[in-house]
Amino acid sequence: MNHINKSTEYWQELDRAHHLHPFTDTKSLNEKGTRVITKADGIYLWDSDGNRVLDGMAGLWCVNIGYGRKELVDAAQRQMMELPYYNTFFQTTNAPATELSQLLAEITPEGLNRVFFANSGSEAVDTVIRLVRRYWQVEGQPDRNVIISRNNAYHGSTVAGASLGGMDPMHEQSGLMMPGIEHIMQPYWYKDGGDLSPEEFGLKAAQALEERILEVGPEKVAAFIGEPIQGAGGVIVPPETYWPEIQRICEKYNILLVADEVICGFGRTGNWFGSETFGIKPDLMSMAKGMSSGYLPISAVMVGDRVADSLIEKSGEFYHGYTYSGHPASCAVAIENIRLMRDEGIVDRVRDETGPYFQKRLRELEDHPLIGEVVGYGLVAGMVMVKNKETRELFENGSEVGNICRDHCFNNGLIMRACGDRMVLSPPLVMTKAEIDELLEKVKYCLDLTAKDLG
Ligand code: PLP
Repeated sequence: MNHINKSTEYWQELDRAHHLHPFTDTKSLNEKGTRVITKADGIYLWDSDGNRVLDGMAGLWCVNIGYGRKELVDAAQRQMMELPYYNTFFQTTNAPATELSQLLAEITPEGLNRVFFANSGSEAVDTVIRLVRRYWQVEGQPDRNVIISRNNAYHGSTVAGASLGGMDPMHEQSGLMMPGIEHIMQPYWYKDGGDLSPEEFGLKAAQALEERILEVGPEKVAAFIGEPIQGAGGVIVPPETYWPEIQRICEKYNILLVADEVICGFGRTGNWFGSETFGIKPDLMSMAKGMSSGYLPISAVMVGDRVADSLIEKSGEFYHGYTYSGHPASCAVAIENIRLMRDEGIVDRVRDETGPYFQKRLRELEDHPLIGEVVGYGLVAGMVMVKNKETRELFENGSEVGNICRDHCFNNGLIMRACGDRMVLSPPLVMTKAEIDELLEKVKYCLDLTAKDLG
């Protein structure tokens, strides 16, 4: 379709008439009219009225390599001309799927050597559930089928992903939850830590896992799943004591540890994976988003030797897969994306240079009257807007405050997302220090506008 000479109003009208948006109140969107994004380059987007917007969210935490990389477009085009599609079900494979498998085994933590491909983070998480439950079946312990997750976790939007996630508003819709899933407290010190130090609270939050395992019965628990840093929950960084204690508990009860790396993976925290940043040794890892920098849909589950060897030896056919598992064009783009990130030292730069600079500059916001804590690693950060900084008192309706701030950003050339009362940033990993300065200026300006609105 030729987009030239068509107007914002034209697209808004089509959208209003026919398009149901994800995670959107359609009635209120239709009243306002949606913004039409027409092009992008580097860390910037442009809308159909010609406004330039700094994308502080890298799309949806995914355009790690930034917009406009011709190498990725060429990789997709080459592959589409040669072999646009073939399945990996029936004793066939394709070259990009094999090469990407090898590359992923190389860059992921030790012991993760096999990969199962899917198309979205949600499908990867569904695949985790299928793999984990099948593993315990073939190990002769079919009753080990409970998976423990956390309140305010996000693991996707399919029935399984939304059930596994800990978002109450999602559970309240569409007849969720799926059976065999338990939720424990999240490690959110600022909100729930009370008088405990962050270290004490980290241990307490992790020990909630042990308590739940004992309540459910250790012989029934298959796995624990967690995002190294909770992303959609508001970029909640656990205290340093948290992950080592979770790891200890999983080992004690012989429970599989699953890291959901859909946001933290592919350089976001300054290492290739969040598991490295936090010293986690996962048995399985779900990943998506930054894998192809969002240029084409692709996701995967990395499967550790313990689970993979057992399934290969004992499972027979595993009745699971997607038409587009190992899609050749998506795999070719993911390979090129990872190659560029490696060759250009993008992850190293986030670890050593831009990540520390971003985090240092953002900490300046702790002096802002609205801001409680600022936390993050590499190029992902979250900050909470509070009623009283001294007492850590939160706003009664945090979402309203978050939305006020988000709208000011939106109207002032910045995409910053609100997760309730937490404002989150996750910009493209190619961001320069000068661009970080520009981002900071915009963030400060929009926080001031928000504070003014709140009186
Ligand atoms: N897991 C985590 C940790 C995520 O952040 C997300 C999406 O944000 C998902 C799973 C689901 O991914 P998708 O939206 O690609 O299905």
